[in-house]
Amino acid sequence: MVFAPRIYNTLVHSKQYFSVVFVRGPKVKTKACSHEQFNDSIQIMKRTFHCRNCGHCCLNLIDAYNGCVSDADLHRWRDHGRDDLPIWVKTLDLGPDNKLHTAWVDPETGDDVERCPWLLDRIDRKGHLCGIDDIKPDHCRAYPEHQNHAAATGCKGYDKNQ
Ligand code: SF4
Ligand code: SF4
Repeated sequence: MVFAPRIYNTLVHSKQYFSVVFVRGPKVKTKACSHEQFNDSIQIMKRTFHCRNCGHCCLNLIDAYNGCVSDADLHRWRDHGRDDLPIWVKTLDLGPDNKLHTAWVDPETGDDVERCPWLLDRIDRKGHLCGIDDIKPDHCRAYPEHQNHAAATGCKGYDKNQ
């Protein structure tokens, strides 16, 4: 069965795996991993990765703002009292124990957003910041998954010359 990118990515998340699978433009092949592998790979990645806050991933990679969020994301926001976040999420009931939380959806129009509602522009106009960085969705935390993923999707975070 072939799913639209958004639904496919949502299905990946619904099984508690994390993977940024589709980007605008070329498809990027990724492997699903467990929570433990996910956390380990983030720690390894942080040793060599330096985010430039360019905003490219949030603005241009469609999964960033038209993907899905996990159950863990929803729990995190509830624990932080952020009731303003889930209202931008639409949950699809696909059957027993299979709910998909698609994000971000404009609560007033019901339409998918064309830009992440939490993306901030720096005052000096030299980049962007995430307005919910400490509690942002797992798929945002996971990006980029590794150096090759960064290179394939236009992220300069591993580029020592930047
Ligand atoms: S594209 Fe890379 S360097 Fe730019 S904001 Fe995203 S993670 Fe950071
Ligand atoms: S939640 Fe934050 S990191 Fe994720 S797309 Fe929006 S601004 Fe970017």
